[in-house]
Amino acid sequence: MRVFTYQRVETPVEAAVAAATVPGARFIAGGTNLLDLMKLEIETPAHLVDINGLGLDRIEPTADGGLRIGALVRNTALAADATVRRDYGVLSRALLAGASAQLRNKATTAGNLLQRTRCPYFYDTNQACNKRQPGSGCSAIGGFSRTHAVIGASDACVATHPSDMAVAMRVLDAQVETVRPGGATRTIPIADFHRLPGTTPHIETALRPGELITGVILPKPLGGQHLYHKVRDRASYAFALVSVALVVQRDGSGRLAVGGVAHKPWRVEEAERHLPRGAGAVTERLLQGARTTEENAFKIPLVQRTLAAMLAGAKKG
Ligand code: SF4
Repeated sequence: MRVFTYQRVETPVEAAVAAATVPGARFIAGGTNLLDLMKLEIETPAHLVDINGLGLDRIEPTADGGLRIGALVRNTALAADATVRRDYGVLSRALLAGASAQLRNKATTAGNLLQRTRCPYFYDTNQACNKRQPGSGCSAIGGFSRTHAVIGASDACVATHPSDMAVAMRVLDAQVETVRPGGATRTIPIADFHRLPGTTPHIETALRPGELITGVILPKPLGGQHLYHKVRDRASYAFALVSVALVVQRDGSGRLAVGGVAHKPWRVEEAERHLPRGAGAVTERLLQGARTTEENAFKIPLVQRTLAAMLAGAKKG
């Protein structure tokens, strides 16, 4: 691990100023991803800004019937919150499908959104990786690609986003609240928060230098049945090969987003209109334009079958 300096801050603006002032600074809260990356020298921040003292750890109702989740709410607390369980069940289920109990106890809402890909070539510093070292190439293209993206990828990067929580937030049309070093705040729709790789896969989100996530806003509840199904190589502590977040109404209409297939949670609103026609019609539109390899082509029928099983289960429920 490289030498770094460390600073505790007391307000969100102070945090944003600190991160913007020192080149190479990073925020740290739970540290469940960042510390691993630092030990491997994939991330080498010169300065860590500890935001654990900012008090952003509350879950509160909003004036228009939604919910505001503080950036530092731990994944365990969010999954167990009574309002989340009752009104945003897809989010609670997605959280509980992620990581392990110990990691969920430490990991925060903001950190979960910002976790980095688990592409094995990204973690192997002997391999070329445009995300780790821009312009160096991508070892996954032409390499072992079983876990990689089938849609929205580029010639520079075929990584997938690892978060379960973010897939559920995409279905719920969450908004990410931030503050910048000058004190200005903004809200970023979750649809625009994570980026596709394009030619700059090292730029993963819409955040600007020093910009701090302060919370996530959920709109008022959608009703309906909330389901999250994650298909993975082992039953716990594994990332999704494919995951589906689904909110389905009594009349068969609904929303869905898919994880494990793209550089961001994948949702195509036009595809949702075909939900009453079944999983095949939805998947055809959802993954239209997919580019697969021999190793990851299984993800397309896996999305379809997972969705079909969920829709069948929802009808019975
Ligand atoms: Fe790096 Fe992306 Fe290629 Fe993986 S897929 S090696 S993260 S550039």
